[in-house]
This record gives sequence, C-alpha cells and structure tokens, in this order.
Amino acid sequence: MKKSDNINGRALEFLYSLCPGYFKMTVFNTLVGTFLPYFDIFMSAEIITELSGNRNPKRTLILIIITLAGNLLIGVFGELASRLANIYSRKFDDAESAAFNDKTLSLDYSDLEEPSVRQLRRKITESAWINNHGKGLLMNDFFRLVGYFSDVIMAFIFCLGMVISVIINGFKPITALFLVLFIAATAAGVMYQKTATDKMSDFWNQGSRLMLEENRISGEMNDYNLGKDIRLYNLADFYDRVDKKLITDHHELFKKLNGKRFLINIPNDAITLVKNSSLYLLVSLCALGGAFGAGSVIKYVSAVRRLSGAVTMIIYYLNDIRSNTPFVEDYMRYFDLPRKMYQGSLPIEKRAFCDGGDYDYKIEFRDVSFKYPGCEEYALRHLNLMFKVGERLAVVGRNGSGKTTFIKLLCRLYDPTEGRILLNGIDISKYDYDEYMRVFTVVFQDYRLFSFKLSENVAAGLEIDENFCIKCLEEVGFGDRLSELPEGINTYLYKNFDKNGIEISGGEAQKIALARALYKNAPFIILDEPTAALDPISEAAIYEQFNGIVGQKTAVYISHRLASCRFCDEIAVFEEGKIVERGTHDGLLEQCGKYKELWDAQAGYYAEDRGLEDRR
Ligand code: ADP
Repeated sequence: MKKSDNINGRALEFLYSLCPGYFKMTVFNTLVGTFLPYFDIFMSAEIITELSGNRNPKRTLILIIITLAGNLLIGVFGELASRLANIYSRKFDDAESAAFNDKTLSLDYSDLEEPSVRQLRRKITESAWINNHGKGLLMNDFFRLVGYFSDVIMAFIFCLGMVISVIINGFKPITALFLVLFIAATAAGVMYQKTATDKMSDFWNQGSRLMLEENRISGEMNDYNLGKDIRLYNLADFYDRVDKKLITDHHELFKKLNGKRFLINIPNDAITLVKNSSLYLLVSLCALGGAFGAGSVIKYVSAVRRLSGAVTMIIYYLNDIRSNTPFVEDYMRYFDLPRKMYQGSLPIEKRAFCDGGDYDYKIEFRDVSFKYPGCEEYALRHLNLMFKVGERLAVVGRNGSGKTTFIKLLCRLYDPTEGRILLNGIDISKYDYDEYMRVFTVVFQDYRLFSFKLSENVAAGLEIDENFCIKCLEEVGFGDRLSELPEGINTYLYKNFDKNGIEISGGEAQKIALARALYKNAPFIILDEPTAALDPISEAAIYEQFNGIVGQKTAVYISHRLASCRFCDEIAVFEEGKIVERGTHDGLLEQCGKYKELWDAQAGYYAEDRGLEDRR
C-alpha cells in the first residue's frame, strides 16, 4: 500500500470518528443524487420505446405518471438527505474545530512555543482557508469519488443490456471501428485532463500565494492593535499601495488564467466531439442492425456518456487526492504530535485550599540547567535555590538573564534539561499537572485580558464568586473605577462582544490581572514584571502594595529593577542564567558585588524619589 493511501485512509478514519453521521448522510445524499438521472434515463427510454412501438395511450400515460411520481419521491428523499447532510455538516465542523483546539490546548507548552509547530498550525489553517487544501479537499474528493464510483456501477449495469443485445445480434466491423474510436477518445480525454490540470496548477498556486498575502495585509490593516502605529507613522498610504498592487496582480493573473483555460478547453472540446460522435454512431449502428429499439439508443448513449465521464472524473479526483496528500500529512502530523513531558499522577496535598491549611510547601531547584529546544546555549545553568511558603523571594537581573525561564520551569511549561525541581521533596513531574498548577498563580509581563465580562476575567476558569471578585479588585486599587462601571462586575471589557464594553488603560489592565492572580487564591503568587510598562517608581509602589495584600502566601517578584524588590526576604541575582548573588537588600549592598553594581547603575531612576534614597 502506498504511503499516500495510508495517510489519506487514516485521515478519513479520524474525520469519520469525529462525526459518523455526517459521513453516512453525505454518502446517502450522494447516492440519491446518482440514482435520479438513471431513473430518468430508464423511464425516458421506456416512454420513447412505447411511443415508437405500440403507441398505447394508457400505457404511455402510466409510464409518464411513474416518471413524475418517481421524480417527486426521489426528489423528496434527496431534499431530506441533503437537509440532514447540511445539519450534520455543521456538527462535523464544530466537532473538527473542537478537536483541533483541544489538540492545541493539550500540547506541551514547549511545542506551542516551538516555531516549527506554530508554522505547521498556520500552514494548516491558511491552506484550508485559501483553497480548502487538507482535510476539506480530502473529504470533498472522497464524497465525489463515492458518487462517481456509484455512477460507474449504475452505468455499467445499464450498458450490460447493450453488450448482451450486441453479442446476440452479432458485431459488425464498422461498429468495432467506432467502439475503438470511442475508447481511444475517452483515454485521450483522461490523459488530456491530467495534463491540463497540471498546466493550470501553476496558476492556482500563484493565485493562492496572492490570496494569502492579501489576507495578511488586510488582517494587519484591520488589526485593532496596529491602528495607532499605522496612523502615527503614516503607514496608511503604504498599506494602501501594497493592497492595490496585490489586487492588480490578482486581476492580471485571473485574466491570464481565463485566457489559458479557454485555450486548454478547445482541444478538450474537440476530443469530446470525437468521443460523442463515435458513441452516437456506434449505438445507432447497433440499433439499425436490430440489436435494440429507438428508446434504448437514448438509454445506452446516456449511460455510456455517464460511464466515460465518471471514469474521467475518478482519475481526476484520484489525482487531486494525490496532490492534496502533503496537506493531509501536515494535518495528521499536528494531531500526531506527542506529549513529550512526563505526565505525573500524584495528588498535591490540599494544604492551602481550605481555610486553616498550614500552607507548608517547599520548592527546591536542585542543580537545574536548561536549554530551549533547538538552542545550543543554556538559558539557565546549575541553579540551586530553595524557598518556602510565606517567604518573599525576589529574582532580579538584567533582561535576558534567565528570570522568566526560571518561572517557566517552576510552572512546568518546560522540564529542566538537567537537574530536578522538587515540591516538598518530590520531583514536580510526578504530580498531576492540573493539581500542581493550582499551587501557583503567575502574572506574566505579556498577560492577556479577554473580551469577556470583568467578573469572568477575574475568575478566569474558576467558578464566579462576585463578592470575592469585587474584594480582589478593591484590594488591587480598582474599587473606584469599578463603582463607576455601568454594569459593575458584569461590564464587558472591550467592545468585541458588547457595544457597551469599556476600554481600559494599561494601568487598569494590570490591576485586573493582579486581581485575577489574587482570585485564584494559590499559595504561590509570582509577578513576572507585569508592571514593566510602568515607570520604575510606580512599579516599586505596586510591588510593595501587592506585598501587603498577599498575606501568608509566598510571593516571587521578578524585575530587572532592583528597587521594586528591595523589601523581599531574599533576593537572588541572576546573570547569564546563573544565580550570582543571594541575600537581603542591605546584605547584598554591603557585599559590593553584582547587586551593588546594578543598584548604582539604576540609582539615577530614583534620584528624585527622596524616600527611596533616604531608605538606602
Ligand atoms: P529574562 O526574563 O531575564 O529577561 P529570559 O528567561 O526571558 O530572560 O531569557 C533567558 C535567555 O533565554 C535569553 O537569552 C533568551 O534569548 C532565551 N530565550 C527566552 N525564551 C526563549 C525561547 N522561547 N526560545 C529560545 N530562547 C529563548
């Protein structure tokens, strides 16, 4: 079995499993669609035979009534089947996109961030959008093939009558000549079809590329986030020019494509003419020889034409499936991506999830080193660190020194390349991931808020307790703004889903993100520079204020600004992926090492902040 058959077969099996009803209904619909023309051909032949033979009015009338009633019945059946197929088609689309999204959500984070995986996902969605390549085309071709194969079977059954009549009546040499001519013209038609498709494919590819670029440009032009920069940097004309050029190129290509299609169709029409004339002559000569009556001429000509058309189309669609195979491979490759990270099953002791818990958690990094997948350089090297619940740990260092990577490992978004991370003495990979993640809440620098209600943003995936939402928002200083909101906690953020949604400032967004972290009520709270966009003094104020709110929980503060974390029990200074110093703010200043060097370099930021200077 060829590899392409294997992958297409496997993909069809997978797609069938998502919604078997869709496949069954569509196949049924296709079969009804194939049956109707044969019924008409058969009945027309019967009516013509009657009119050219016995001319019995009663029998003729009965035949007409059967034809009309049959058409009505099959039509109703067809309509029903097509409606059901449409309903199932919606169900299938929902099931397929849910499966795709579930796959994305279940990927290891390292894969989600991996450029090749991101490219693969983009390729799959873009090729589906541009020309339905991938699973869409595979299913379309499959249903077409079911239709054409059933066409071949029906036509063959009809033609059998002709073959038997001709054999009984004898086969004249002239009839044989037209038969050979017909077969040769059909074969030529099939071959020409393939060449013509290959010639056109270049145009389709060029067209797809242009559509892709047009789509990206139009996406950028309509991107809300880019609106400001486009206006400030006067890029509207630039976008307009690029867009117009793409549209002109596309029109030109379309004109060329139509010209080419016209030229390609001329030989095809000539082949069809030879094919049809030899067929009419072949069947008429057989009828003249007495093999069958006038009515059967219509029947056999129609059946043979359908047979030859169906064979041509089967070859076309098989070829189409072959050229679509790389896209199906991409699609299945995405679903086949394995989860490489070890999935533990140990439960976490529920020490912090009920009031009165002792919160006794201890995290230890034991000689941890880490390289990002595909990178030669270590982002973290020989990290040894232990911190207990209730402590305030600061991780400081220049940009790129490994602070965020440290948090990513702590949250098991990646596993260490070397060394181990332990929670209460047990390797964190051994714990059930969802349970483990309940121990942490992180506000990253690039946190996101959603166009949902404020309460939904604060509660995130958890059950909404409105009073607790309000309490968290008040604690982070959002109370005044909340009291002004028309719908209070149920006000939508942004206007994507509700025209009364509110726009919020960067500072307000940070407060909501912090409230979300508080709402999770996890024993470890990590702030990874969510306030980086603020000035250093405001960041220091927010960190200190937040520190007052977190109570007996553990807080890990990350910043490249040392003043923001000076209140912490322990400060770890990161440099090139290593911890180069540890201690309290005062102790580290006394050491006159890296911390002091950074502190002195940053002191200028705070020169005007007398309080901070005095405290130093
Ligand atoms: P910090 O948080 O201190 O600014 P990071 O932990 O983000 O530093 O980065 C540490 C190092 O790892 C840097 O050299 C950075 O370029 C690299 N790095 C960060 N993220 C990735 C990634 N997804 N893939 C490859 N390298 C990365």
